[in-house]
Amino acid sequence: MKKYSWMVDIDDYAPLIGEEAMERIVHKAHRLRDMRVLHVSSTFYGGGVAEILSSATLLERSLGIKSDWRLIQGSPDFFSVTKKIHNALQGGEINLTRLKKEVYEETVVQNAVRMDLNCDLVVVHDPQPLPLIRHYRKTCPWVWRCHVDLSRPNPEVWEYLRAYVEEYDAMIVSLPEYAQDTSLPQVFIMPAINPFSLKNGEMSEAEIKDRLERYGIPDDLPIVAQVSRFDRWKDPEGVVEAFHLARKEIDATLVLLGNIATDDPEGQQVFESLLRHKEERVHILTVEDSALVNALQRRAAVILQKSIREGFGLTATEAMWKGAAVIAGRCGGLEHQIEDGVNGFLVGSVEEAAQRIVQLVRDEKLGKELGRRAYDTVRERFLMTRKVEQYLDLFGAFEPQFEVNRKRLSASGRPAS
Ligand code: UDP
Repeated sequence: MKKYSWMVDIDDYAPLIGEEAMERIVHKAHRLRDMRVLHVSSTFYGGGVAEILSSATLLERSLGIKSDWRLIQGSPDFFSVTKKIHNALQGGEINLTRLKKEVYEETVVQNAVRMDLNCDLVVVHDPQPLPLIRHYRKTCPWVWRCHVDLSRPNPEVWEYLRAYVEEYDAMIVSLPEYAQDTSLPQVFIMPAINPFSLKNGEMSEAEIKDRLERYGIPDDLPIVAQVSRFDRWKDPEGVVEAFHLARKEIDATLVLLGNIATDDPEGQQVFESLLRHKEERVHILTVEDSALVNALQRRAAVILQKSIREGFGLTATEAMWKGAAVIAGRCGGLEHQIEDGVNGFLVGSVEEAAQRIVQLVRDEKLGKELGRRAYDTVRERFLMTRKVEQYLDLFGAFEPQFEVNRKRLSASGRPAS
């Protein structure tokens, strides 16, 4: 029997992915057992990167890979600069001054001074820790994993970051359309969910009800919800507008649930600016509660993810897993998850979103049908095992170097970790 409910291992996935896929993954991992993979990111919670790493590193461990996860630290100034860089990578404007570069680069040097890296492979996530590579003697492969929508990066910021990126051995982006003009090998890996987590696991009716009641969310009318970081790219204002338009024809409750990641200083501002919309039928909450995310995604008649840019959009995947009817912005990773009219709806405007809300609130059967296909989509394409297998394939490409390290370590008499 397992000691903890979060202790998920590959066997748990067998009923979902089949024995054959499970054996294949175990076999790939076996060849790489004891490989020390170090993931570096900038926040332990809030946002998709933390969500993925918290499950993926444990699953990798259960497969015998020695995955570790470290965070870089920084002041609000640092995260304010890195959020601007993030926005510019998604196509926003930036005034990349000497001072901003100094804050960015020097904070990363300080992190490098504090952090020893004893491993066989480093995976650096997103722009915040990107320059780390410059401050170590390179004894193993380094991979940069960029999670943002890179389809139209601001040229100035991309040129600045490219100098760091090209020191890496490979780059992972979520989609082929995010590939950049660089000599670096580029690999495309879409994110995925852990179906057994507190956020995605089964919930009883009573648990759902209890969780909603705890936060004063009424379920007397159909719920329309968006669960997302408070970020302008997620278009929360557009969601409120669409809801008001829809409400001219149907009655419903809107819930905007969002968290504020420690590496996102704009979140608080966005949250506060939304509060003016609060009223009896518009609930705007910021709490860190995975069970509430789960309950809302299960109970809502409609889940919105009305993003304007979206690297991938795990919130949509999570809702689809629960059989929700999802209306998503026609952009980035959302377009790869949703086939319009088949397993959800894609929209390009507030008016379109409003029309789809009305349609789904009126036609519960349609919502259920889309949701059923959405669940199948996630089971077939977006479970954590698929992502981990793609990572194993990537790690495998560096196997010769890993073997050299392994031999060097055993010759020195030191244990492999
Ligand atoms: N999330 C959460 N609570 C919230 C809002 C979001 O736990 O109030 C989680 C959400 O469930 C998902 C992640 O944050 O796992 C967001 O990932 P996504 O890829 O959708 O967007 P990102 O924030 O990385 O841009």
